[in-house]
Parts: sequence; C-alpha cells; structure tokens
Amino acid sequence: MSRYDPDCIFCKIAAGHIPAKLVYKNEHVVAFHDVNPVAPVHVLIIPLEHIPSLSHLTPDDTGIAANILLAARMVAEKTGVLDSGYRVVFNNGPDSLQSVGHIHAHLLGGKTMGWPPFPGREVLHGQD
Ligand code: 5GP
Ligand code: ZN
Repeated sequence: MSRYDPDCIFCKIAAGHIPAKLVYKNEHVVAFHDVNPVAPVHVLIIPLEHIPSLSHLTPDDTGIAANILLAARMVAEKTGVLDSGYRVVFNNGPDSLQSVGHIHAHLLGGKTMGWPPFPGREVLHGQD
C-alpha cells in the first residue's frame, strides 16, 4: 500500500487494524456497513490507499476511481437493492459535511429517498 495515514480511521479499517462489518473487499477497495446508518442499507466504499477526498483524485487514480464505482454496483447486488434502487454519494469538503478525510462513497438504499438531499422542497420525479 503506497499511501497510509496512521491517524486515519478508514486507513485503519482498510488495513484490518480496527473492525468493520465488511460487505466486499478486493485488492483496491473495501466496503463496510456505516456505523451510524441513515438508511436501511448504508454501506461505505473506500480505496485501500489514503486519498483525502474526491478533490484529491488525479489521473493516476483512474483505476481506484473506477474500482469504487464498480464496487458500488457489487455492493448494491450483495445488499439486495440493485433493482429497487440506491444512491451513491461522495461528500466532499465542508459544505457537504464530509467528516472523515479519506475518500468514501456512501451507498444508500432500502427506502424511497427525497430529492434534493437537504432540507427544502422535495421533488418527486414523474409527479407535478
Ligand atoms: P462523511 O460525513 O465523511 O461523508 O461520512 C463519514 C461516515 O463514516 C459517517 O456516515 C459515519 O457514520 C461513518 N463512520 C465514521 N467512523 C466510522 C467507523 O469507525 N466505522 C464505520 N463503520 N463507520 C464510520
Ligand atoms: Zn485514510
């Protein structure tokens, strides 16, 4: 592993140094249940390498970025929401309330969600 931050909780989960309920793992990424779920299905997908956020991705990380998305599809299948639908969210920076500085995708599903994803008028697509 070329990038590891000893102070990063997600680096420790990726390395197996602290436990998490794993859903999926390969040589690039690991997916595990969020400790504080906000939906019936709430899984985090992270690269094994420490990258602070989406804003820190470079063209050298193309493989990692692709693997996060491919793992999201895998997690959707494993958690039974592939057909019912799911949302993949990257919180990025202060306005998004990103709280862990290791890039992660939230996969959310198992319920009908609102849009937009913040307080305000919800839009139900297909309805007036
Ligand atoms: P963020 O707010 O950065 O987009 O999301 C961080 C997510 O990580 C939160 O939903 C939070 O519940 C989750 N989280 C923080 N620490 C841990 C942990 O130690 N284990 C697990 N499984 N999830 C965590
Ligand atoms: Zn990290």
